[in-house]
Amino acid sequence: MEKARIDWENIGFGYIKTPYRFVSDYKNGAWDEGKLTEDDKVVITECAGVLQYAQTCFEGLKAYTTQHGNIVCFRPDLNAERMHDSALRLEMPPFPQDKFVQAVREVVKANAAYVPPYGSGATLYIRPYMFGSDAVIGVKPANEYQFRIFTTPVGPYFKGGVKPIVIKVSDFDRAAPHGTGHIKAGLNYAMSLHAIVTAHKEGFAENMYLDPATRTKVEETGGANFLFVTKDGTVVTPKSDSILPSITRRSLCYVAEHYLGMKVEHREVLFSEVKDFAECGLCGTAAVISPVGKIYDHGKEICFPSGMEKMGPVIQKLYDTLTGIQMGRIEAPKGWIEVIE
Ligand SMILES: *Cc1c(COP(=O)(O)O)cnc(C)c1O
Repeated sequence: MEKARIDWENIGFGYIKTPYRFVSDYKNGAWDEGKLTEDDKVVITECAGVLQYAQTCFEGLKAYTTQHGNIVCFRPDLNAERMHDSALRLEMPPFPQDKFVQAVREVVKANAAYVPPYGSGATLYIRPYMFGSDAVIGVKPANEYQFRIFTTPVGPYFKGGVKPIVIKVSDFDRAAPHGTGHIKAGLNYAMSLHAIVTAHKEGFAENMYLDPATRTKVEETGGANFLFVTKDGTVVTPKSDSILPSITRRSLCYVAEHYLGMKVEHREVLFSEVKDFAECGLCGTAAVISPVGKIYDHGKEICFPSGMEKMGPVIQKLYDTLTGIQMGRIEAPKGWIEVIE
């Protein structure tokens, strides 16, 4: 397969159209077979459920070229499962999980020329999503839906080396208790835009959201889960029903326990404990882990001992091990790597 002519090292994180996408329609109570198409346009009624009442959810995962030259995806079955859960919570018909994985395989294979080469730091980002596509004006679920997957190559998340970021404790809330924080719904992102634009204007890279009910517990950022390391080397991740269950975070915790022999705790984390941690990072598909150097909290600063120059040693080890597994340099746990070709 001849690769597309792209300057892989310098593409950044933006949309670059690739030749093929997968489309399946839900009508009369059933999903059709679905197919690959070159048509990147979605044509729907002006009254579509997604346009009026935001009935939509999505996923995000990546395809990589490994050290051995294979194209692989990382745990797509977990994206299928999570999208199933998102769909049910939004009263949408779930797309069958085995077909989801099959569709990911097809669309990556069809766009193989756009999977960046090993060592470039770039990857092929895969975006499955679905939405209510027929007309609804009274507030109710749509009758018809479309499921699609497109791909776009994305550059290395950290250009010129990883630098710790500075974040702030947000005055806005991300997800209500018993709300939709645990699913990957577009609506969670729509309402986070004002908070992130505000944070950026103030010079912060991200928001730390606390639990809206008591504002004493750490939840997550707009698009990544927190991972902390205690001074005696335990990995701690916040637990809450309104946190989106990050596949990266769950994988890092497994790696910490089973590859690095560390103690791992998934529990409620009080904001008042955060100042005592040695390291802090944000976990998600885009960056794997972004190290946090400093948290700004209404005039006070929490500065982690790992500093502002580089990742802390534990987060570095977690990052190296998980990216090693993804890139085929380290043997993966059974079922984690979906070989496409
Ligand atoms: C997608 C997402 C994450 C990261 O999940 P991954 O599966 O690791 O990519 C974390 N938080 C939120 C709110 C998200 O939408």
